[in-house]
Amino acid sequence: MEGMKRASVIWKTALPAAFFALLLLATTSNCPAEEAKESEGKESKGKVLLVIATVNFASEEYKAIREGLEKAGFQVVVGCTVRNSRGIPDIGNVTADRVLSEVKDMELYEGMVFCGGPGMSEYSGENFPPGSPDSLKQSIRDSISQARKLVEEALRSEKAVGAICLAPAAVLAPMSAIKGRRVTGFAQREELAAFKKAGALYTGRPVEADGNLITAKVEGMEGFVKSLVAALSIPFVFPCEGYAQGLKGKGNFGLQISSAKADEAFKGSYHLAEDVWLKAGTAVKSIANGVVAYSDFSPTWTDKDKKVHWNLGNVIIIEHELSPAAKDLTHVCSVYMHLGADRKVKEGDKVGKGQAIGAIGMDKSDENGRYPAHLHFGVHKGPYLQLSPGWKRDKIEEAAAIGLPVGNPPDIRIEKGKIVDVKLAGKTTAEFTFESGSVARIGLLMQSSSPDYKPADIMGWCRGYGDKETVEEWLRPSEWIGKKG
Ligand SMILES: [Zn+2]
Repeated sequence: MEGMKRASVIWKTALPAAFFALLLLATTSNCPAEEAKESEGKESKGKVLLVIATVNFASEEYKAIREGLEKAGFQVVVGCTVRNSRGIPDIGNVTADRVLSEVKDMELYEGMVFCGGPGMSEYSGENFPPGSPDSLKQSIRDSISQARKLVEEALRSEKAVGAICLAPAAVLAPMSAIKGRRVTGFAQREELAAFKKAGALYTGRPVEADGNLITAKVEGMEGFVKSLVAALSIPFVFPCEGYAQGLKGKGNFGLQISSAKADEAFKGSYHLAEDVWLKAGTAVKSIANGVVAYSDFSPTWTDKDKKVHWNLGNVIIIEHELSPAAKDLTHVCSVYMHLGADRKVKEGDKVGKGQAIGAIGMDKSDENGRYPAHLHFGVHKGPYLQLSPGWKRDKIEEAAAIGLPVGNPPDIRIEKGKIVDVKLAGKTTAEFTFESGSVARIGLLMQSSSPDYKPADIMGWCRGYGDKETVEEWLRPSEWIGKKG
């Protein structure tokens, strides 16, 4: 692109005077109206922060990236470094939506992408318009430092980061976060040295897609947008950094507890999830966009006969709708157990992929249910409100043993005998049909057995262990996320 020829010159010199004329005086006022406008947006695959320079960004690149993202169903939010006295300036017919220093974190975004063009040298933090007042320089610096924090956060939380043309050198090269990553983009001797210093591997290819970091030269634009959309579209990520190492090998999904020392409650049963052995305090993130179905605490406690009643400590369950739905599977629920008390989400909250929801609880503490510090992480097939086959089986066994009351007052009697069907009737009620044709309904709400804490809950399928058949209701998380991600 023609702008690129000028890039290396402007890179070393100051930004054009037009830059200054545009900016007038920078202010730092917050702008709640913009927040509101953004969150109103129609149902989309999520928001992407598209970052431009305040002057001399490559408008063709901007257009191509924006169109590509919108066509793929993403909502584009344009970020820049400063606002002037009239608000955020119009920049070459583009109205920026956000000043980067005011973007708190990446929670609202699926990823961020830096447009190219010679003006991106602004992001080196060393090029200011001639005669810039200190306040303006400070505003630009604030935005640049925040932009780098956002990049680090995005790379860490499996969100996509894209940079094209001059942007990889201007924005990414000074960052240690690209250590060990493959990158490309515009680079001459100095830029190459900067990439090397950061520990990145510069390949010089038109497009370089290294996991969630996508970089490109201008001639790689088409592939850049494609790779970016692919990285943005990954629906599931792992709940912790270092997940694979935390499994200590193949992980313990579906393994049977056979230890003679095992508590009676667990002996002989199968592990329905993967235990992730990472340090207490390790951040736990939502594996995908979804809605929090459950967030509560259920303590492990000891009764007067010294019998320990094992519960799960702090638990979060998130329901994820699959789009597109898989065969016979419209939803999955992710289950995070033995968390610390600082759960960051509550029932009904919408959460984004990679959003921090809590942390691994302290070793053998009340908050984590008295277990060694680890995350018990499971992925259950189906929506949150459901009668899973395993639970249904348990209910039938229970009902067959004790019988269920049927009929209307005063003619209530206990029906025993073969149960031919159990289904959900309403959100928290199960309907049992007996062979005789009698129908009984029972509430499914359960309570923690702790005398001090009784959160009511319907999630009968949510447990750490189950019989062999119950394992079938669960997915092996590392395999499933690996495939989806
Ligand atoms: Zn476990």
